[in-house]
Amino acid sequence: MKLYKIKKSKIDSKGRGLYATKNIKEGTKIINYKGKIITNKQVENSNKYNNDKPIYLFTLNKRYTLDGDFHWNTAGLINHSCNPNSQYDGKGLKIWITAIKDIKKGEEFTCDYGFSFDKDYKQFPCKCSAKNCCGYIVREESRWRINKKFAMGKKINK
Ligand SMILES: [Zn+2]
Repeated sequence: MKLYKIKKSKIDSKGRGLYATKNIKEGTKIINYKGKIITNKQVENSNKYNNDKPIYLFTLNKRYTLDGDFHWNTAGLINHSCNPNSQYDGKGLKIWITAIKDIKKGEEFTCDYGFSFDKDYKQFPCKCSAKNCCGYIVREESRWRINKKFAMGKKINK
């Protein structure tokens, strides 16, 4: 039995997400993150990767990147959360999703997309509704930049 099923997402109102089909223990491997192996040179040179954030790209090593931007990559449906219950793991040329907390049946799987903080961060609002949500999809180590910004500007709506 698969540990996940595809359903309309609670986080991404326009999209789908993956949900636990049973209670899952921390450390459990949930699903492989499938894609095509491309060279880092291809990423630099191809138009496909110019416009968007590399949401589906994982740098595997000095030479290779995994491009998971394919409809058959079910794990690509997993949404970002500022308080995720899963993470991306990898070894060699393989990437998979591992539970980092005990997850209850019916919960949506979430990961930290790990976006770096840059001037475009406002293009990627986060609706994960976690208590610590910074409002944008930015990796954990960079969120203080956004919080600081908020503190200096208008009041935070909370
Ligand atoms: Zn969030």
